[in-house]
Amino acid sequence: MKNADVVVLGGLSGITAGISCRRHYPGKKVILVRKEGTVLIPCGIPYIYGTVGGPENNVIPDGLLENNGIELIKGEAVDVDRTRKVVTMKDGETIGYEKLVFATGSVPLIPPIPGIEKQNVYPVKKEFDYLSEVQQKMNDVKELVIIGGGFIGMEFADECRKGRDLNVTIVEALPRCLQMAMDDEFCEEAQAKLAETGVKILVNEKVEAILGDGKVSGVRLADGRELKADMVILGIGAVPNTELAARTGLELGFKKTIKVNRYMQSYTDPDVFACGDCAEKPSFFDGKPTGVMLASISTSEARIAGANLFSPTHQNCGAISVFSTVINGRAFGVAGLTERTATLTGTRIVTGTAEAPDTHPGGMPNSCSTKVKLMFAKDTGVLLGGSICGGKSVGEMINVLSACIMHRMSADDMVNFQMGTHPALTASPIMYPIVNAACKAIIPLKGIA
Ligand SMILES: Cc1cc2nc3c(=O)[nH]c(=O)nc-3n(C[C@H](O)[C@H](O)[C@H](O)COP(=O)(O)OP(=O)(O)OC[C@H]3O[C@@H](n4cnc5c(N)ncnc54)[C@H](O)[C@@H]3O)c2cc1C
Repeated sequence: MKNADVVVLGGLSGITAGISCRRHYPGKKVILVRKEGTVLIPCGIPYIYGTVGGPENNVIPDGLLENNGIELIKGEAVDVDRTRKVVTMKDGETIGYEKLVFATGSVPLIPPIPGIEKQNVYPVKKEFDYLSEVQQKMNDVKELVIIGGGFIGMEFADECRKGRDLNVTIVEALPRCLQMAMDDEFCEEAQAKLAETGVKILVNEKVEAILGDGKVSGVRLADGRELKADMVILGIGAVPNTELAARTGLELGFKKTIKVNRYMQSYTDPDVFACGDCAEKPSFFDGKPTGVMLASISTSEARIAGANLFSPTHQNCGAISVFSTVINGRAFGVAGLTERTATLTGTRIVTGTAEAPDTHPGGMPNSCSTKVKLMFAKDTGVLLGGSICGGKSVGEMINVLSACIMHRMSADDMVNFQMGTHPALTASPIMYPIVNAACKAIIPLKGIA
Protein backbone atom coordinates (compact mmCIF):
# COMPACT_ATOMS: atom_id res chain seq x y z
CA MET A 1 0.00 0.00 0.00
CA LYS A 2 1.15 3.52 -0.86
CA ASN A 3 0.71 6.33 1.63
CA ALA A 4 0.34 10.11 1.35
CA ASP A 5 -0.68 12.98 3.60
CA VAL A 6 -3.15 14.09 0.94
CA VAL A 7 -4.84 12.18 -1.86
CA VAL A 8 -6.71 14.19 -4.48
CA LEU A 9 -9.09 12.55 -6.98
CA GLY A 10 -9.48 14.67 -10.10
CA GLY A 11 -8.24 16.80 -13.00
CA LEU A 12 -8.46 20.58 -13.36
CA SER A 13 -9.56 21.43 -9.81
CA GLY A 14 -7.67 18.43 -8.46
CA ILE A 15 -4.38 19.80 -9.82
CA THR A 16 -5.23 23.25 -8.42
CA ALA A 17 -6.09 21.83 -4.98
CA GLY A 18 -2.85 19.81 -4.98
CA ILE A 19 -0.75 22.85 -5.88
CA SER A 20 -2.53 24.98 -3.28
CA CYS A 21 -1.88 22.33 -0.63
CA ARG A 22 1.83 22.18 -1.47
CA ARG A 23 2.06 26.00 -1.33
CA HIS A 24 0.47 26.14 2.11
CA TYR A 25 2.00 22.93 3.49
CA PRO A 26 5.28 22.33 1.62
CA GLY A 27 6.20 19.37 3.82
CA LYS A 28 3.11 17.32 2.97
CA LYS A 29 3.17 14.45 0.49
CA VAL A 30 0.42 14.83 -2.12
CA ILE A 31 -0.76 12.20 -4.62
CA LEU A 32 -3.12 13.10 -7.45
CA VAL A 33 -5.21 10.19 -8.73
CA ARG A 34 -6.59 10.73 -12.21
CA LYS A 35 -8.65 8.46 -14.42
CA GLU A 36 -7.38 9.95 -17.69
CA GLY A 37 -3.88 9.37 -19.05
CA THR A 38 -3.85 12.92 -20.40
CA VAL A 39 -5.94 15.71 -18.98
CA LEU A 40 -7.44 18.26 -21.34
CA ILE A 41 -8.03 21.96 -20.79
CA PRO A 42 -11.80 21.54 -20.50
CA CYS A 43 -12.67 25.05 -21.70
CA GLY A 44 -10.49 24.52 -24.77
CA ILE A 45 -12.44 21.47 -25.99
CA PRO A 46 -14.50 23.28 -28.69
CA TYR A 47 -11.24 24.72 -30.10
CA ILE A 48 -9.88 21.21 -30.75
CA TYR A 49 -12.17 21.14 -33.80
CA GLY A 50 -10.94 24.39 -35.31
CA THR A 51 -8.41 26.87 -33.96
CA VAL A 52 -6.04 24.56 -32.05
CA GLY A 53 -6.28 21.64 -34.45
CA GLY A 54 -6.51 18.61 -32.13
CA PRO A 55 -6.72 17.38 -28.54
CA GLU A 56 -2.92 17.04 -28.36
CA ASN A 57 -2.73 20.86 -28.53
CA ASN A 58 -5.18 21.33 -25.67
CA VAL A 59 -3.56 19.57 -22.75
CA ILE A 60 -2.76 20.55 -19.14
CA PRO A 61 0.90 19.50 -18.89
CA ASP A 62 1.76 16.93 -16.20
CA GLY A 63 4.93 18.97 -15.65
CA LEU A 64 2.77 21.23 -13.46
CA LEU A 65 2.46 18.38 -10.99
CA GLU A 66 6.14 17.47 -11.13
CA ASN A 67 7.16 21.12 -10.66
CA ASN A 68 5.05 21.28 -7.55
CA GLY A 69 6.26 18.00 -6.08
CA ILE A 70 2.97 16.17 -6.58
CA GLU A 71 2.98 12.46 -7.44
CA LEU A 72 0.58 11.41 -10.21
CA ILE A 73 -1.14 8.03 -10.24
CA LYS A 74 -3.05 7.36 -13.44
CA GLY A 75 -6.10 5.19 -12.88
CA GLU A 76 -9.61 5.15 -11.50
CA ALA A 77 -10.37 5.25 -7.80
CA VAL A 78 -13.20 2.75 -7.27
CA ASP A 79 -13.58 2.65 -3.50
CA VAL A 80 -12.88 4.81 -0.46
CA ASP A 81 -12.86 3.31 3.04
CA ARG A 82 -13.21 6.37 5.25
CA THR A 83 -12.74 4.42 8.48
CA ARG A 84 -9.38 2.99 7.43
CA LYS A 85 -8.64 6.10 5.28
CA VAL A 86 -7.77 4.08 2.21
CA VAL A 87 -8.51 4.65 -1.49
CA THR A 88 -8.68 1.53 -3.68
CA MET A 89 -7.85 1.77 -7.37
CA LYS A 90 -9.42 -0.24 -10.20
CA ASP A 91 -6.20 -2.29 -10.57
CA GLY A 92 -6.35 -3.18 -6.86
CA GLU A 93 -3.63 -0.79 -5.69
CA THR A 94 -4.42 0.93 -2.35
CA ILE A 95 -3.40 4.38 -1.14
CA GLY A 96 -3.62 5.51 2.49
CA TYR A 97 -4.40 9.18 3.24
CA GLU A 98 -4.74 11.62 6.09
CA LYS A 99 -6.86 14.07 4.04
CA LEU A 100 -8.83 13.28 0.88
CA VAL A 101 -10.10 15.72 -1.75
CA PHE A 102 -12.91 14.83 -4.13
CA ALA A 103 -12.50 16.83 -7.34
CA THR A 104 -14.23 14.28 -9.54
CA GLY A 105 -15.96 16.92 -11.66
CA SER A 106 -18.96 16.41 -13.88
CA VAL A 107 -20.14 14.31 -16.80
CA PRO A 108 -22.43 15.35 -19.65
CA LEU A 109 -26.15 15.34 -19.09
CA ILE A 110 -27.70 12.74 -21.41
CA PRO A 111 -31.37 13.53 -22.04
CA PRO A 112 -33.82 10.64 -22.53
CA ILE A 113 -34.34 11.37 -26.24
CA PRO A 114 -35.26 8.23 -28.19
CA GLY A 115 -32.29 7.23 -30.36
CA ILE A 116 -29.69 8.99 -28.19
CA GLU A 117 -27.57 5.81 -28.14
CA LYS A 118 -27.07 5.81 -31.94
CA GLN A 119 -23.62 5.94 -33.50
CA ASN A 120 -22.22 9.43 -34.16
CA VAL A 121 -24.23 11.01 -31.34
CA TYR A 122 -21.65 12.61 -29.05
CA PRO A 123 -22.18 14.17 -25.64
CA VAL A 124 -19.21 16.45 -24.84
CA LYS A 125 -17.03 14.24 -22.61
CA LYS A 126 -13.73 15.60 -21.32
CA GLU A 127 -11.77 12.58 -22.57
CA PHE A 128 -8.79 12.70 -24.90
CA ASP A 129 -9.33 9.50 -26.96
CA TYR A 130 -13.07 10.06 -27.22
CA LEU A 131 -12.63 13.61 -28.51
CA SER A 132 -9.96 12.42 -30.99
CA GLU A 133 -12.52 9.97 -32.36
CA VAL A 134 -15.08 12.79 -32.69
CA GLN A 135 -12.48 14.82 -34.59
CA GLN A 136 -11.74 11.98 -37.03
CA LYS A 137 -15.42 11.27 -37.64
CA MET A 138 -16.17 14.96 -38.10
CA ASN A 139 -13.86 15.09 -41.11
CA ASP A 140 -16.28 12.78 -43.01
CA VAL A 141 -19.46 14.51 -41.95
CA LYS A 142 -21.61 16.88 -44.02
CA GLU A 143 -24.55 17.64 -41.71
CA LEU A 144 -23.88 18.41 -38.05
CA VAL A 145 -26.72 19.08 -35.61
CA ILE A 146 -25.85 20.55 -32.23
CA ILE A 147 -28.48 20.14 -29.53
CA GLY A 148 -28.25 23.09 -27.16
CA GLY A 149 -27.38 26.72 -27.82
CA GLY A 150 -25.52 27.47 -24.60
CA PHE A 151 -21.92 28.66 -24.77
CA ILE A 152 -20.59 25.13 -25.39
CA GLY A 153 -22.98 24.56 -28.32
CA MET A 154 -22.28 28.02 -29.77
CA GLU A 155 -18.49 27.58 -29.48
CA PHE A 156 -18.67 24.14 -31.11
CA ALA A 157 -20.77 25.54 -33.96
CA ASP A 158 -18.32 28.39 -34.51
CA GLU A 159 -15.25 26.13 -34.45
CA CYS A 160 -16.40 22.97 -36.25
CA ARG A 161 -16.94 24.77 -39.55
CA LYS A 162 -13.36 26.05 -39.64
CA GLY A 163 -11.52 24.24 -42.45
CA ARG A 164 -14.47 21.91 -43.14
CA ASP A 165 -17.28 21.94 -45.66
CA LEU A 166 -19.91 21.32 -43.02
CA ASN A 167 -23.52 22.41 -42.59
CA VAL A 168 -24.12 23.16 -38.92
CA THR A 169 -27.51 23.59 -37.27
CA ILE A 170 -28.09 24.47 -33.61
CA VAL A 171 -31.40 23.42 -32.08
CA GLU A 172 -32.23 25.43 -28.95
CA ALA A 173 -35.39 24.94 -26.88
CA LEU A 174 -35.47 28.49 -25.45
CA PRO A 175 -36.42 31.61 -27.45
CA ARG A 176 -32.74 32.62 -27.68
CA CYS A 177 -29.34 30.94 -27.60
CA LEU A 178 -27.32 31.71 -24.45
CA GLN A 179 -30.51 32.80 -22.70
CA MET A 180 -29.61 31.04 -19.44
CA ALA A 181 -26.43 33.12 -19.26
CA MET A 182 -27.01 36.55 -20.82
CA ASP A 183 -29.60 39.27 -21.28
CA ASP A 184 -31.61 39.36 -24.49
CA GLU A 185 -29.66 42.10 -26.28
CA PHE A 186 -26.38 40.21 -25.85
CA CYS A 187 -27.96 36.85 -26.83
CA GLU A 188 -29.32 38.43 -29.98
CA GLU A 189 -25.98 39.95 -30.92
CA ALA A 190 -24.15 36.64 -30.30
CA GLN A 191 -26.73 34.75 -32.32
CA ALA A 192 -26.46 37.22 -35.21
CA LYS A 193 -22.63 36.93 -35.16
CA LEU A 194 -22.87 33.14 -35.35
CA ALA A 195 -25.49 33.27 -38.11
CA GLU A 196 -23.02 35.37 -40.19
CA THR A 197 -20.76 32.28 -40.40
CA GLY A 198 -23.52 30.27 -42.07
CA VAL A 199 -24.57 28.31 -38.97
CA LYS A 200 -28.34 27.75 -38.96
CA ILE A 201 -29.98 28.48 -35.62
CA LEU A 202 -33.41 27.09 -34.72
CA VAL A 203 -34.82 28.50 -31.47
CA ASN A 204 -38.01 27.50 -29.64
CA GLU A 205 -37.39 24.03 -31.05
CA LYS A 206 -36.81 20.70 -29.34
CA VAL A 207 -35.28 17.52 -30.70
CA GLU A 208 -37.85 14.84 -30.03
CA ALA A 209 -36.08 11.84 -31.58
CA ILE A 210 -32.75 10.90 -33.12
CA LEU A 211 -33.31 8.99 -36.33
CA GLY A 212 -31.27 6.39 -38.17
CA ASP A 213 -30.63 2.71 -38.44
CA GLY A 214 -27.84 2.16 -35.92
CA LYS A 215 -26.07 5.31 -37.07
CA VAL A 216 -27.67 8.75 -36.87
CA SER A 217 -29.21 9.98 -40.13
CA GLY A 218 -31.32 12.86 -38.81
CA VAL A 219 -33.30 14.35 -35.97
CA ARG A 220 -37.02 14.89 -35.60
CA LEU A 221 -38.17 18.15 -34.02
CA ALA A 222 -41.20 18.49 -31.75
CA ASP A 223 -43.13 20.20 -34.58
CA GLY A 224 -42.62 17.10 -36.74
CA ARG A 225 -39.95 18.56 -39.04
CA GLU A 226 -36.93 16.38 -39.77
CA LEU A 227 -33.35 17.62 -40.20
CA LYS A 228 -30.62 15.61 -41.90
CA ALA A 229 -27.68 14.81 -39.61
CA ASP A 230 -24.73 12.49 -39.86
CA MET A 231 -23.38 13.67 -36.53
CA VAL A 232 -25.09 15.06 -33.42
CA ILE A 233 -23.26 16.91 -30.63
CA LEU A 234 -25.07 17.21 -27.31
CA GLY A 235 -24.33 20.41 -25.45
CA ILE A 236 -27.13 20.69 -22.94
CA GLY A 237 -25.31 20.71 -19.65
CA ALA A 238 -23.52 18.53 -17.15
CA VAL A 239 -24.27 16.64 -13.94
CA PRO A 240 -21.90 16.18 -11.00
CA ASN A 241 -19.83 13.01 -10.95
CA THR A 242 -20.56 11.94 -7.38
CA GLU A 243 -21.34 8.23 -7.60
CA LEU A 244 -18.16 7.25 -5.74
CA ALA A 245 -18.75 9.97 -3.13
CA ALA A 246 -22.28 8.67 -2.54
CA ARG A 247 -21.06 5.06 -2.29
CA THR A 248 -18.53 6.12 0.28
CA GLY A 249 -21.29 7.60 2.43
CA LEU A 250 -20.75 11.32 1.82
CA GLU A 251 -23.94 13.36 2.08
CA LEU A 252 -25.13 14.77 -1.23
CA GLY A 253 -27.05 18.02 -1.55
CA PHE A 254 -28.35 20.23 -4.35
CA LYS A 255 -28.52 18.35 -7.67
CA LYS A 256 -26.47 15.51 -6.14
CA THR A 257 -23.37 17.61 -5.44
CA ILE A 258 -21.25 16.77 -2.39
CA LYS A 259 -22.44 18.83 0.59
CA VAL A 260 -19.58 21.03 1.84
CA ASN A 261 -19.22 23.90 4.31
CA ARG A 262 -17.61 27.26 3.50
CA TYR A 263 -14.17 25.67 4.13
CA MET A 264 -14.87 23.10 1.37
CA GLN A 265 -14.96 20.37 4.02
CA SER A 266 -17.61 17.70 3.43
CA TYR A 267 -20.54 17.78 5.87
CA THR A 268 -19.99 14.10 6.59
CA ASP A 269 -16.27 13.81 7.27
CA PRO A 270 -13.90 16.65 8.32
CA ASP A 271 -10.97 14.83 6.67
CA VAL A 272 -12.70 14.71 3.28
CA PHE A 273 -12.93 17.90 1.21
CA ALA A 274 -14.62 18.53 -2.15
CA CYS A 275 -14.23 21.22 -4.79
CA GLY A 276 -15.16 21.95 -8.39
CA ASP A 277 -18.14 20.69 -10.36
CA CYS A 278 -18.75 17.80 -7.91
CA ALA A 279 -19.14 20.11 -4.88
CA GLU A 280 -22.22 22.02 -3.77
CA LYS A 281 -21.79 25.76 -4.27
CA PRO A 282 -23.61 28.59 -2.56
CA SER A 283 -24.40 31.67 -4.58
CA PHE A 284 -22.37 34.76 -3.65
CA PHE A 285 -25.60 36.76 -3.66
CA ASP A 286 -28.02 34.84 -1.44
CA GLY A 287 -26.07 31.82 -0.20
CA LYS A 288 -28.55 29.42 -1.80
CA PRO A 289 -27.07 26.47 -3.72
CA THR A 290 -26.52 27.19 -7.41
CA GLY A 291 -26.11 24.68 -10.21
CA VAL A 292 -23.60 26.74 -12.18
CA MET A 293 -20.44 24.86 -13.20
CA LEU A 294 -17.48 26.94 -14.31
CA ALA A 295 -13.71 26.64 -14.24
CA SER A 296 -13.51 30.01 -12.46
CA ILE A 297 -15.58 28.71 -9.54
CA SER A 298 -13.95 25.26 -9.52
CA THR A 299 -10.38 26.52 -9.31
CA SER A 300 -11.24 29.14 -6.68
CA GLU A 301 -12.84 26.42 -4.55
CA ALA A 302 -9.81 24.17 -5.17
CA ARG A 303 -7.39 26.85 -3.92
CA ILE A 304 -9.53 27.25 -0.80
CA ALA A 305 -9.76 23.47 -0.22
CA GLY A 306 -5.98 23.04 -0.64
CA ALA A 307 -5.26 25.87 1.79
CA ASN A 308 -7.68 24.53 4.41
CA LEU A 309 -6.62 20.87 4.50
CA PHE A 310 -4.66 21.05 7.75
CA SER A 311 -6.00 24.35 9.10
CA PRO A 312 -9.46 25.40 7.91
CA THR A 313 -9.21 29.19 7.87
CA HIS A 314 -10.08 30.29 4.30
CA GLN A 315 -13.78 30.73 3.56
CA ASN A 316 -15.53 30.40 0.22
CA CYS A 317 -17.48 33.62 -0.47
CA GLY A 318 -19.78 31.78 -2.92
CA ALA A 319 -20.15 31.59 -6.67
CA ILE A 320 -20.21 34.90 -8.53
CA SER A 321 -20.48 33.14 -11.89
CA VAL A 322 -18.10 34.97 -14.19
CA PHE A 323 -17.36 33.72 -17.67
CA SER A 324 -16.67 34.84 -21.20
CA THR A 325 -17.01 33.43 -24.67
CA VAL A 326 -16.18 34.48 -28.21
CA ILE A 327 -18.46 34.00 -31.19
CA ASN A 328 -17.17 34.72 -34.68
CA GLY A 329 -14.61 37.17 -33.30
CA ARG A 330 -16.96 39.07 -30.98
CA ALA A 331 -16.39 38.51 -27.25
CA PHE A 332 -19.13 38.34 -24.62
CA GLY A 333 -18.68 38.25 -20.86
CA VAL A 334 -20.99 38.12 -17.87
CA ALA A 335 -20.19 38.52 -14.17
CA GLY A 336 -22.77 38.06 -11.44
CA LEU A 337 -26.44 38.70 -12.04
CA THR A 338 -28.02 39.59 -15.36
CA GLU A 339 -31.10 41.75 -15.61
CA ARG A 340 -33.09 38.54 -16.21
CA THR A 341 -31.77 36.69 -13.13
CA ALA A 342 -32.23 39.79 -10.97
CA THR A 343 -35.83 40.14 -12.13
CA LEU A 344 -36.52 36.43 -11.58
CA THR A 345 -35.38 36.67 -7.96
CA GLY A 346 -37.30 39.88 -7.37
CA THR A 347 -34.12 41.95 -6.85
CA ARG A 348 -34.75 45.65 -7.52
CA ILE A 349 -32.00 46.97 -9.75
CA VAL A 350 -30.87 50.05 -11.61
CA THR A 351 -28.91 49.61 -14.83
CA GLY A 352 -26.34 51.81 -16.53
CA THR A 353 -24.99 51.24 -20.03
CA ALA A 354 -22.14 52.74 -22.04
CA GLU A 355 -20.36 52.04 -25.30
CA ALA A 356 -16.91 53.14 -26.52
CA PRO A 357 -14.15 51.97 -28.85
CA ASP A 358 -11.47 49.92 -27.07
CA THR A 359 -8.71 52.20 -28.37
CA HIS A 360 -8.35 55.97 -28.49
CA PRO A 361 -8.63 57.33 -31.04
CA GLY A 362 -11.24 54.82 -32.24
CA GLY A 363 -9.57 54.87 -35.67
CA MET A 364 -6.61 52.79 -34.41
CA PRO A 365 -6.11 49.48 -36.28
CA ASN A 366 -8.29 46.62 -34.91
CA SER A 367 -10.30 48.97 -32.72
CA CYS A 368 -13.53 47.41 -31.55
CA SER A 369 -16.66 48.88 -30.03
CA THR A 370 -17.21 47.73 -26.43
CA LYS A 371 -20.65 47.73 -24.77
CA VAL A 372 -20.98 47.59 -21.00
CA LYS A 373 -24.15 47.07 -18.97
CA LEU A 374 -23.98 47.27 -15.18
CA MET A 375 -26.64 46.26 -12.66
CA PHE A 376 -26.70 47.90 -9.22
CA ALA A 377 -28.95 47.11 -6.25
CA LYS A 378 -31.56 49.89 -6.16
CA ASP A 379 -31.51 50.11 -2.37
CA THR A 380 -27.75 50.12 -1.73
CA GLY A 381 -26.15 51.09 -5.04
CA VAL A 382 -23.88 48.01 -4.81
CA LEU A 383 -22.81 46.32 -8.06
CA LEU A 384 -24.62 42.99 -8.57
CA GLY A 385 -23.69 42.17 -12.12
CA GLY A 386 -22.30 43.28 -15.43
CA SER A 387 -22.29 42.19 -19.05
CA ILE A 388 -19.78 43.27 -21.67
CA CYS A 389 -19.32 42.59 -25.37
CA GLY A 390 -16.56 43.75 -27.66
CA GLY A 391 -13.06 42.65 -28.58
CA LYS A 392 -10.47 40.56 -26.77
CA SER A 393 -10.26 43.01 -23.85
CA VAL A 394 -13.70 41.76 -22.72
CA GLY A 395 -12.00 38.66 -21.28
CA GLU A 396 -10.16 40.74 -18.67
CA MET A 397 -12.69 43.58 -18.31
CA ILE A 398 -15.28 41.07 -17.09
CA ASN A 399 -12.77 39.88 -14.48
CA VAL A 400 -12.50 43.48 -13.26
CA LEU A 401 -16.27 43.46 -12.78
CA SER A 402 -16.04 40.17 -10.88
CA ALA A 403 -13.53 41.77 -8.48
CA CYS A 404 -15.81 44.81 -8.05
CA ILE A 405 -18.77 42.53 -7.28
CA MET A 406 -16.74 40.42 -4.85
CA HIS A 407 -15.70 43.54 -2.96
CA ARG A 408 -19.23 44.96 -3.06
CA MET A 409 -18.25 48.18 -4.78
CA SER A 410 -20.99 50.74 -5.25
CA ALA A 411 -21.73 52.89 -8.27
CA ASP A 412 -20.08 55.80 -6.41
CA ASP A 413 -16.90 53.73 -5.90
CA MET A 414 -16.86 52.79 -9.58
CA VAL A 415 -17.28 56.37 -10.73
CA ASN A 416 -14.07 57.15 -8.83
CA PHE A 417 -12.27 54.12 -10.31
CA GLN A 418 -8.73 54.92 -11.48
CA MET A 419 -8.24 52.88 -14.63
CA GLY A 420 -4.98 52.62 -16.54
CA THR A 421 -5.41 53.62 -20.17
CA HIS A 422 -3.33 53.55 -23.32
CA PRO A 423 -4.32 54.61 -26.88
CA ALA A 424 -3.58 51.21 -28.41
CA LEU A 425 -4.79 49.10 -25.49
CA THR A 426 -7.89 50.61 -23.88
CA ALA A 427 -10.83 52.93 -24.27
CA SER A 428 -10.19 56.60 -23.63
CA PRO A 429 -10.12 57.72 -19.98
CA ILE A 430 -13.00 60.09 -20.79
CA MET A 431 -15.09 57.36 -22.39
CA TYR A 432 -14.02 54.32 -20.31
CA PRO A 433 -17.24 52.29 -20.57
CA ILE A 434 -17.19 50.61 -17.13
CA VAL A 435 -16.90 54.02 -15.45
CA ASN A 436 -19.37 55.69 -17.80
CA ALA A 437 -21.97 52.94 -17.26
CA ALA A 438 -21.60 53.51 -13.49
CA CYS A 439 -21.98 57.30 -14.02
CA LYS A 440 -25.21 56.70 -15.95
CA ALA A 441 -26.60 54.57 -13.10
CA ILE A 442 -25.90 57.26 -10.49
CA ILE A 443 -28.77 59.44 -11.74
CA PRO A 444 -31.56 56.85 -11.26
CA LEU A 445 -29.87 55.50 -8.10
CA LYS A 446 -29.99 58.92 -6.49
CA GLY A 447 -33.52 59.43 -7.75
CA ILE A 448 -32.53 62.51 -9.77
CA ALA A 449 -35.09 63.07 -12.53
C1 LIG B 1 -16.71 22.04 -23.68
C2 LIG B 1 -16.62 22.78 -22.39
C3 LIG B 1 -16.23 24.11 -22.40
C4 LIG B 1 -16.17 24.82 -21.21
N1 LIG B 1 -15.77 26.13 -21.26
C5 LIG B 1 -15.65 26.83 -20.09
C6 LIG B 1 -15.18 28.18 -20.10
O1 LIG B 1 -14.88 28.76 -21.16
N2 LIG B 1 -15.07 28.82 -18.92
C7 LIG B 1 -15.39 28.21 -17.72
O2 LIG B 1 -15.25 28.84 -16.67
N3 LIG B 1 -15.84 26.94 -17.69
C8 LIG B 1 -15.98 26.23 -18.83
N4 LIG B 1 -16.41 24.94 -18.80
C9 LIG B 1 -16.71 24.31 -17.49
C10 LIG B 1 -15.44 23.79 -16.86
O3 LIG B 1 -14.78 23.02 -17.80
C11 LIG B 1 -15.73 22.97 -15.62
O4 LIG B 1 -16.37 23.78 -14.68
C12 LIG B 1 -14.43 22.40 -15.07
O5 LIG B 1 -13.89 21.46 -15.95
C13 LIG B 1 -14.64 21.74 -13.72
O6 LIG B 1 -13.44 21.23 -13.30
P1 LIG B 1 -13.37 20.01 -12.29
O7 LIG B 1 -11.93 19.74 -12.05
O8 LIG B 1 -14.24 20.26 -11.13
O9 LIG B 1 -14.01 18.79 -13.07
P2 LIG B 1 -13.58 18.01 -14.42
O10 LIG B 1 -12.94 18.95 -15.37
O11 LIG B 1 -14.80 17.27 -14.81
O12 LIG B 1 -12.47 17.01 -13.92
C14 LIG B 1 -12.75 15.89 -13.11
C15 LIG B 1 -11.59 14.92 -13.24
O13 LIG B 1 -11.73 13.90 -12.27
C16 LIG B 1 -11.40 12.65 -12.86
N5 LIG B 1 -12.10 11.61 -12.12
C17 LIG B 1 -13.43 11.47 -11.95
N6 LIG B 1 -13.71 10.37 -11.20
C18 LIG B 1 -12.51 9.82 -10.91
C19 LIG B 1 -12.13 8.67 -10.18
N7 LIG B 1 -13.02 7.88 -9.59
N8 LIG B 1 -10.82 8.37 -10.09
C20 LIG B 1 -9.89 9.17 -10.67
N9 LIG B 1 -10.20 10.27 -11.36
C21 LIG B 1 -11.49 10.59 -11.49
C22 LIG B 1 -11.93 12.81 -14.26
O14 LIG B 1 -11.39 11.83 -15.10
C23 LIG B 1 -11.50 14.23 -14.58
O15 LIG B 1 -10.17 14.26 -15.05
C24 LIG B 1 -16.48 24.19 -19.98
C25 LIG B 1 -16.88 22.85 -19.97
C26 LIG B 1 -16.93 22.15 -21.15
C27 LIG B 1 -17.35 20.70 -21.14
